[in-house]
Amino acid sequence: MRRKPKLGQNFLVDEDAIARLAAAFGDLAGRTVVEIGPGRGAITAELAARAGRVVAVELDRELAAGLRRRFAAAVLDVVEQDVLAFDFAAAAAEAGERLLVAGNLPYYITSPILLKLAASHAALDVAVLMVQREVAERATAEPGTRDYGLLSATVQLYGPAAPLFTLPPAAFSPPPQVHSTVFRWRFAPRFAELAVEEQPFLTFLRQAFAQKRKTLAKNLRAAGIAPDRAVAALAIAGIDAQARAETLPLASLAALWRALRETQA
Ligand code: SAM
Repeated sequence: MRRKPKLGQNFLVDEDAIARLAAAFGDLAGRTVVEIGPGRGAITAELAARAGRVVAVELDRELAAGLRRRFAAAVLDVVEQDVLAFDFAAAAAEAGERLLVAGNLPYYITSPILLKLAASHAALDVAVLMVQREVAERATAEPGTRDYGLLSATVQLYGPAAPLFTLPPAAFSPPPQVHSTVFRWRFAPRFAELAVEEQPFLTFLRQAFAQKRKTLAKNLRAAGIAPDRAVAALAIAGIDAQARAETLPLASLAALWRALRETQA
């Protein structure tokens, strides 16, 4: 079967990594795991041996057919579909529980997949995902560090994310050009605790982080917020007028969002 590089097909061949990825969920007995991009089934086999049911979402028709031949339908439900169109809420309703999500992701759509999982948060419990090392570093970064930015704030708004282990290109066939890191993301959205509304706050985060080297005040001005209002809101939120969004924890950004609401004309 021909490999399709455009679909990000770098197959995991490191047995130890496969076992560690599955073990990162803890006890899987009776649980339903959705696997994104199961490919030839390297991780799928480990998940199927541990979980109650695995739903494998694979876009490649030939790979999906191969999985159906390899695994019994009782343990593996192969869904031949673009994961970006997959209905996690419906799958969780069918499973009768919040889902676990596993995957060595197709790297060309990593960000859209992470945003899709964030948007599906109500249906999800824990995700253990292999991504390009730099993406994992950004997703799990703490405020004030080199890698902290919009991706970190967005991911962590939906729950804590922590790196687990990193693999060299040789762990895959064919080897990709980058290192890969597995990280765990527990879905526990912080909207109520931070007293923010999901969509308006996501829009605000995009504005706050719009230009990495600019101050928060400048980014807010570029988003159309009057300078006086921005200055007043920063003061109410207790944030230095020269601060950059990259230095601020979500709690401070949420305080600023609330202050901007209060100072709305
Ligand atoms: N899980 C396998 C492994 O670790 O060996 C394969 C991982 S490979 C990096 C990514 C997989 O995602 C491939 O099987 C590819 O065909 C599949 N894929 C690519 N785009 C996809 C999409 N939009 N929806 C679902 N699967 C996709």
